[in-house]
Amino acid sequence: MFDKEYDVIVVGAGHAGAEAAAAAANLGSKTLLITMNLQTIGQMSCNPAMGGIAKGQIVREIDALGGYSGIITDKSAIQFKMLNKSKGPAMWSPRAQSDRMRFAEEWRIALENTPNVDFYQEMVSGLLVEGTKIVGVKTSLGLEIKSKSVVLTNGTFLNGLIHIGNKQFGGGRAGEKASTGITEQLLSFGFDSGRMKTGTPPRVDGRSLDYSAMIPQPGDINPDKFSYLDTKALTTQRDCHMSHTSALVHDLLREGFDRSPMFNGRIKSLGPRYCPSIEDKINRFADKDSHQLFVEPEGWNTVEVYVNGFSTSLPEDIQFKALRSVKGFEKVKFFRPGYAIEYDYFPPTQLKHTLETKLIDNLYFAGQINGTTGYEEAASQGLMAGINAHLKINEKDPFILQRDEAYIGVLVDDLITKGTEEPYRMFTSRAEYRTLLRQDNADLRLTPMSYKIGLASKERLVRMEQKERESDSFVQFFRETSFVPDDINPILDQLDSSLVKQPDKMFKVFSRPKVTMDHMKELEPVSNYINENKLGREVLEQTEIQVKYAGYIAKEKNNADKLQRLENIKIPDNFDYSKLKSLSFEAREKLKSIKPVSISQASRISGVSPSDISVLLVYMGR
Ligand code: FAD
Repeated sequence: MFDKEYDVIVVGAGHAGAEAAAAAANLGSKTLLITMNLQTIGQMSCNPAMGGIAKGQIVREIDALGGYSGIITDKSAIQFKMLNKSKGPAMWSPRAQSDRMRFAEEWRIALENTPNVDFYQEMVSGLLVEGTKIVGVKTSLGLEIKSKSVVLTNGTFLNGLIHIGNKQFGGGRAGEKASTGITEQLLSFGFDSGRMKTGTPPRVDGRSLDYSAMIPQPGDINPDKFSYLDTKALTTQRDCHMSHTSALVHDLLREGFDRSPMFNGRIKSLGPRYCPSIEDKINRFADKDSHQLFVEPEGWNTVEVYVNGFSTSLPEDIQFKALRSVKGFEKVKFFRPGYAIEYDYFPPTQLKHTLETKLIDNLYFAGQINGTTGYEEAASQGLMAGINAHLKINEKDPFILQRDEAYIGVLVDDLITKGTEEPYRMFTSRAEYRTLLRQDNADLRLTPMSYKIGLASKERLVRMEQKERESDSFVQFFRETSFVPDDINPILDQLDSSLVKQPDKMFKVFSRPKVTMDHMKELEPVSNYINENKLGREVLEQTEIQVKYAGYIAKEKNNADKLQRLENIKIPDNFDYSKLKSLSFEAREKLKSIKPVSISQASRISGVSPSDISVLLVYMGR
């Protein structure tokens, strides 16, 4: 059946697997995407939404690099919001509510239209390894399929165990089988594994809800979109709604606590702290008698509704009774109860920056298997693993993003340097250079790099270069053009900003906190410039940020450059730390196991102190 050897086999077609297959194939690798169920390619296991704080930046970065998640989200969105718009642009985060079924369908269409991708539906039960090198996979039917590299993206499926109240059963997601065999084999090769837990809320019938008792949550009036390519922004949107739990709802939920797998010891592993179940929230924040619930439609043409904020593994009768006491849910009908799932993951300190495993050559891990949670985190790892699998078998340099270049760089570096003991999700606070890593400039940061390795298309590059050229020239216009006090003072007066007495450069007044592009547009030379050059929304936004945040951006660039010097002090591959007696015991053990590639990476390992770094620097003659 499979007489040829593939370049890359991707196991699993969730967000990580789909991006990995697309990237490897678009770079020219003969790729096989093998998954347990071809109907669930790009399935959103939990909430029907992409993006959000820090995650929206990641989707923009995936898009800038030539991945598909941004395009698919634009094609299947039902609502769009730019979060944190009242804060500085480093915090602006795009988020889209998606049509769950269309999202998965668009992924399938996109992959079927990607040359070089073959598909096969089966469970991979083992890996074919010769010496320390991967040479293919084995399926549960006993097929052996050869390849030069393998990317594992098994998500929540490895020995998955689903919990609802006292009931427990094997599964990778509700209604889907768990994956067995791979964990056990990897352990036999010397890998470490752990268990994590996540949960999901019930889905309900929208026809049974009373929306008049809830608060509407509409999308943005002028919705933006994710992709830097020519996808369409929404012209109509669906509203979400907000409701609240109450003291009565909490009391009803408490009635099921003795049957809760969270509290009676059945669930032993750690879940995402920042995305707790409703029973966890009631327990941890006992003084609060109300929590927000977001009522999110699952698509354009379905009545199914996702109850965001009500994730639970309590018995289904308790879930039902409690939800019926929430305002607007008095007559609710269930589509599916909420549940929790425990699954195996592999501590990511066992990986290199390319996401290749340290133990087996040409074997890559991406997504939830690395202890992360979230579609965006998974998709970005898939993209990076797909790219690097292709580059390695073609003997090309690896593609690694630094912490000052992308959130994806922060994500991968955090995972492989620090590891994670609870499901890792991205936050803006994890990035030291968030003024540089904005959602508006991911194309400027990353598209040229991706074009260079052959992934981002010429069209992407041309669009990005035009945006860069136009915004640079417009910034220059503000630097060079002067205003007349009589023109600007009426605007400043309205804003309670001190008036000016003499003409000055526009850049200076535009830099003031309250002055925006909309105000500047009231000046004739500015509006003329925009019209003559036919500048679009993206260029106006980029110019405004470049002018208003010029000082912060320059300062962060400077800090990043300083750190780059430490990044440039490389540590040889098999450096013998045992000969450095002045290193602390903990530092020596951590350095031996993580094998940092640079002094800078070594300094980020927990347990490696500044004095350990000095020892290394002295040894290296610095
Ligand atoms: P998945 O999307 O899980 O995809 C794995 C893929 O691998 C599937 O296609 C599966 O069929 C395939 N596969 C697995 N094993 C094999 C095998 N041996 N052979 C062939 N194919 C295989 N994220 C959040 O951010 N917030 C949440 O609140 C949240 N809650 C969740 C609740 C539940 C119940 C679940 C299941 C997930 C939740 N997630 C949540 C996580 C989110 O779904 C994942 O982070 C994301 O889907 C991970 O993507 P992935 O590609 O790594 O894996």
